[in-house]
Amino acid sequence: SFAYPDAQGVFDQINKQFYVSPEVLTELTKAFLDEIALGLSEYNHAMAMIPTFVTGVPDGTETGTFLALDLGGTNLRVCEVVLNGDKTFNLVQNQYKVSEALKHGEATALFDYLADSVDAFLTTHATTDYTSLQSDPSAHTSDAVHLGLTFSFPVEQTALNSGKILTWTKGFSAKHAIGNDVVKLLQDAFNRKHMHVKCVALVNDTVGALLSRAYTSGGCFLGAIFGTGTNGAYLEDVDKIRKFAGSAAAANGGAMVVNTEWGAFNNSKSHLPVTPFDNAVDRLSINPGYQIFEKFISGMYLGEISRTVLLSLVDATPKSLLFKGKATPSLNQHYGLDTRFLSEIEAAWIDTGATKGSVELPPLGKPSFESELSDAAKAKLTAVRKVILGPHGLGYKSEDEVSLRDAAIVRWVCALVARRAALLSGVAVATTLIQTGRAVLPGQEGSKALRERNEKIGVGVDGSLVENYPNFNTILRESLRLLVGEDVEQRVNIGLAKDGSGVGAALCALQALKQG
Ligand code: ADP
Repeated sequence: SFAYPDAQGVFDQINKQFYVSPEVLTELTKAFLDEIALGLSEYNHAMAMIPTFVTGVPDGTETGTFLALDLGGTNLRVCEVVLNGDKTFNLVQNQYKVSEALKHGEATALFDYLADSVDAFLTTHATTDYTSLQSDPSAHTSDAVHLGLTFSFPVEQTALNSGKILTWTKGFSAKHAIGNDVVKLLQDAFNRKHMHVKCVALVNDTVGALLSRAYTSGGCFLGAIFGTGTNGAYLEDVDKIRKFAGSAAAANGGAMVVNTEWGAFNNSKSHLPVTPFDNAVDRLSINPGYQIFEKFISGMYLGEISRTVLLSLVDATPKSLLFKGKATPSLNQHYGLDTRFLSEIEAAWIDTGATKGSVELPPLGKPSFESELSDAAKAKLTAVRKVILGPHGLGYKSEDEVSLRDAAIVRWVCALVARRAALLSGVAVATTLIQTGRAVLPGQEGSKALRERNEKIGVGVDGSLVENYPNFNTILRESLRLLVGEDVEQRVNIGLAKDGSGVGAALCALQALKQG
């Protein structure tokens, strides 16, 4: 009964829409390099290429005890980080809830709350005894404990320890904050409470990932986030930051970490192979036309793109191609499908105990699909169906509602969307390798020096997507291999930047003290 004029044609077309050819990946890398150059030469470019005033990365020998405060994720986080100087660290942390009232009230109330949270943390969690530093007006300021602030909102940074808040995002809207220096807002709150805590560094979470991976692995040139959003920060030659021309930073020369804000790649021109599903997701998003690259790649959107494709199949005419034409409340709900679902589906598909390994499936549109399934394929699809029916699933109640073909279609859609994301993530990584002279595009002459280099190239990554989506890294590397060649790809060492925001902020605070 599945037979209909051209069911297979519908699947083939979606396949084609999501396919990114090697040629397109190469063109995207060139366009990415152009946008990097533009962002480095002028201010207010969509891909902002923000100089961070961090002039080097750690090598693992750093020591010291620092506090870190992280605002911008789901919770407020306070940590104490002890850097042992041997690539290891000890970290204790506590999380504090930021109420809706604080998010939307006066900025001073919000920052007072941040200071109170640090105070509470020092009393109840910190391993070092800070009692002499708390609320003691007679203590010397030189005794102050140093704190790094990870603030994951758009900021125009003007020094390691100052930056103007540009806008709120992620549901914050505290009044009288925009346009003010976030470090000063926090320091004023510490001072109001006579706390001897000094905020010495302002860090973006991406920079934190770079620094913490550099510390624990002994060197790293790129930090990249593939979580709710996507972004990257890498070490650039100050000479190439052309918008610095004439400034003190330019005169100092050397290197500086640049926060790319690469989620905004492609905002202005359309290089990316957009599908109608992407257009729908963008149009209904809170920021249509912005963060276009991010919308192809990150955790916030992959579930939503998949949901949009799945619904198109449920609604297909002249006859539904999925779930007998029946949607569920979660399928109908805007952002009703978490990217975690994609990870769970892929994990179920890959690993079903005895049936581990790859299997062949008949074409999805073939009328006799189910009767042609091998036992191994049936076992895998049954595992996929369990996820569809499971707690993070699509909200169907019984196996009768989800055929094995439905399961196969869902897995195919999720894998298609995630694979494209991982391939495009490879473009971002390849671009920074080329930008920093570590690689060249296929067909371009590599310098002899480049080919003869054989140092390891460190990349630190963080975020639920790269951590949890099975084979995200493998697919990213596939794209990298294609773009920069196997010899360079083999030397790229990609590792998780654990506790990036805490350790990164501590390392940045240390940098701030060193840089004076
Ligand atoms: P953030 O980027 O905000 O610091 P995370 O790195 O935890 O936070 O990313 C959260 C995002 O990751 C959300 O968009 C969520 O949908 C997605 N996510 C959560 N769990 C998983 C998972 N197991 N696999 C893939 N994505 C996930």
